[in-house]
Amino acid sequence: MVRRGSLGLALAVAMAFFATGCPRSCSAEPPPPTPAPPPPPTPPPGPGKAFPKIEILYNTEIDEILDVSKGEVTGIRLKNSKTGDTTVVDVTGVFIAIGHTPNTDLFRDWLELHDNGYLKTKPGTTQTKIPGVFAAGDVQDFVYRQAVTAAGTGCMAALEAERWLAAQGEH
Ligand SMILES: Cc1cc2nc3c(=O)[nH]c(=O)nc-3n(C[C@H](O)[C@H](O)[C@H](O)COP(=O)(O)OP(=O)(O)OC[C@H]3O[C@@H](n4cnc5c(N)ncnc54)[C@H](O)[C@@H]3O)c2cc1C
Repeated sequence: MVRRGSLGLALAVAMAFFATGCPRSCSAEPPPPTPAPPPPPTPPPGPGKAFPKIEILYNTEIDEILDVSKGEVTGIRLKNSKTGDTTVVDVTGVFIAIGHTPNTDLFRDWLELHDNGYLKTKPGTTQTKIPGVFAAGDVQDFVYRQAVTAAGTGCMAALEAERWLAAQGEH
């Protein structure tokens, strides 16, 4: 049995509900998603910072590769060529890349060289200006300089040498 006072209160609540309308949270349509805030702008990379694993050290030379006598590499001692300060960096390997000057001086008097010192070959072949002399690998390639392209031109040179010898009647 519902007491009179309780019924009056329930009606009052219902009336108040219909008077104000359905709140947003009970609507059949879900509320539109709140757009995510735009990401913060990416700061421009500094030297070497586009690749976080790479750090470029200027005015720096290798003073010593550590522990080679033990048959391993445990670090490198670096020397600042301006201040003379040394620091040790823990590394387990070292790659040495010594510029891009091809070692072609010994051919200079016999073969044609590009202005940058690379050997000239007839385009699409490994032929030099001397018949029977072929050039392959990085020494004649200043565009790609990769192991696979060096191996490819090595294969070309081998085939061209074989064919040249066959044409001389010596193969
Ligand atoms: C640090 C580094 C990383 C590399 N990484 C890659 C890579 O990831 N992938 C890739 O494809 N390529 C890579 N390369 C390039 C690749 O090593 C070369 O493209 C390839 O070794 C070229 O082969 P090559 O036989 O023409 O010359 P080289 O390998 O340079 O061989 C030339 C040889 O001639 C000898 N020589 C020179 N002068 C004389 C002389 N007067 N008398 C007798 N012998 C002589 C040298 O001692 C050497 O042994 C890398 C190179 C470097 C330096």
